[in-house]
Amino acid sequence: MTDATTKIPSRSEGLKLLAEFVPRSGKAYRDLAEYDFGPQRRDNVSGLSAYLRCRLLSESEVAEAVLAQQSPADAETFLKELLWRTYWRGWLEGRPQVHLLYRRTLPDDARRFMGTNAYSAALEGRTGLTAFDAWNRELIETGYLHNMARKAYASIWIFTLRLPWTLGAAHFQQHLIDGDPASNTLGWRWVAGLHNPGKHFLAKGETIAKFSDGRFDLKGRLNESALALTGPVVPPAQLLALPQAPSELLGDRYALLVTPDDLSPELARTGADRPQRIVLCGMEALNGTYAFSQKVRDFVAGGLEDARERLARAYGCPIIDLPLGENLGALLGQRLTEEGIPHLVYMQPGVGPWQELLSTLTAKDVGLRYFPLRRAWDARFFPLAQKTYVQFQKAALPLLLKTRGRSEKFS
Ligand SMILES: Cc1cc2nc3c(=O)[nH]c(=O)nc-3n(C[C@H](O)[C@H](O)[C@H](O)COP(=O)(O)OP(=O)(O)OC[C@H]3O[C@@H](n4cnc5c(N)ncnc54)[C@H](O)[C@@H]3O)c2cc1C
Repeated sequence: MTDATTKIPSRSEGLKLLAEFVPRSGKAYRDLAEYDFGPQRRDNVSGLSAYLRCRLLSESEVAEAVLAQQSPADAETFLKELLWRTYWRGWLEGRPQVHLLYRRTLPDDARRFMGTNAYSAALEGRTGLTAFDAWNRELIETGYLHNMARKAYASIWIFTLRLPWTLGAAHFQQHLIDGDPASNTLGWRWVAGLHNPGKHFLAKGETIAKFSDGRFDLKGRLNESALALTGPVVPPAQLLALPQAPSELLGDRYALLVTPDDLSPELARTGADRPQRIVLCGMEALNGTYAFSQKVRDFVAGGLEDARERLARAYGCPIIDLPLGENLGALLGQRLTEEGIPHLVYMQPGVGPWQELLSTLTAKDVGLRYFPLRRAWDARFFPLAQKTYVQFQKAALPLLLKTRGRSEKFS
C-alpha cells in the first residue's frame, strides 16, 4: 500500500518516487489509473505531479525513465497523461488572456457568493454529497486529489451545486500542492464545457461508484442532464518564441534567477559559464492576490531549500534571496549592478503568479539586461498546442517516441 499523502519536497525524493513508479507505468497504469481507491492506496498512479509542477523533476526525464523500461505501446497511456500537462501549459502560454480574465472575474464572483449557504457548504465539505465532502476533506488535509476525483468534484461544483467554476478553481489552486494555473484553470474550463465548446464533463452517480471502487453512492443525487456552460470565443494562440540558451555569450557576468516554477535549472542550458550569483525567489515576493494553504507554502519553501543546496553544489557561487521591498526590480537591479553583474537569466515561468512577478521585475529599466529562456521540451511542444488535445497528442506523441524522451534533446 502506498500512502501518497506525504510529499517530501526534494529532487532526490522525486527521483525515488519515479524509480518506484516506473515498473508500474505500463500495463498496470493503463488498466488501473482511472480508479480512485482512496488516499491510502495510490499505487495505481505516479503521484509525481507536485514534483513536475515545480520541476523538481522534468517531463523529459520522467518520459525517458518510463521508456527505458516500458515498450512504447505499454507506456502510451501514461505518456498521453504526461502530455496533458504540456498541452495545458502550451495552450495557455499562447493565450494568457484566458487566465487574466479568470483572475479579473474572481473577486466579483467571490463577492456575489461569499456567505451563501451553497458556497460555504462546498468550501467546508458539508453539502451532504458524500463523495464531494470526502474529496473536499482530502483536498484540504493532503493537498492532493486523484484525477477522477478532480473531474467529478469540479462537475458537481458547477452543475449540481451551481457555483461559479472560477471559485472552484481558486479553491483548488489554494490547496493543491501540485496547483498549476494551466492544468487547474483549464481543467475546470474543460469540465465546464468552455474548452471544447458544448462538450462538458457530467459526473454521474454510477460512474463515481465504479471509479471510486464502490466507496461512494450518489445515484439520483446529481444533476446528470445539465448543459455545458458557454463563454467568450477564445482567440488563436500567439506564442512568444524564446531561446533555449542566452542569445549572446554572457561569460560569468550573469545571475541566474530561480522561481518555484522551475527548481532544477542546472539541468537546462542557462549559459556557457557558471553564473556569478543565484537569486532565489520565494513566495513572500508574490503580491498577495493569490491564496495558498500552509501545505502548499511548506512544499514550495522546502523545494526552494533543496534547490539552494543543489545549486550551491552545481555552481559554487553565492546564493541570495530576492531582496523584498516596495520596488523589487529596482532593489535587485541595484544590488546586482553594484556587484558588477549586468545580466539576469531565468527560465520563463508559466502563465500565473511567477510570470506576473517577473513581468513586474523586468518592467522598468534598472540597469539589468534580462534573458528569459525556455526549456527545450517546452520549446518543442508548446507550438503544437494550437487546438484540441487530440490534435496536439497526434503530433506530440510520435515526436516523443521518436526521441524516446531523451533529455539531451529535451532538457
Ligand atoms: C479540475 C482539474 C484540476 C486540475 N488541476 C491540476 C493542477 O493544478 N496541477 C496538476 O498538476 N494537475 C492538475 N490536474 C490534472 C490531474 O488531475 C493531475 O495532474 C493528476 O491527478 C496528478 O496525479 P498524479 O501525478 O498521480 O497523476 P498520474 O496519473 O500519475 O499522471 C502523471 C502526470 O501526468 C500529468 N497529468 C495527468 N493527467 C493530467 C491532466 N488531466 N492535466 C494535466 N496534467 C495531467 C501530471 O503531471 C501527472 O503528474 C487537474 C485536473 C482537473 C480535472
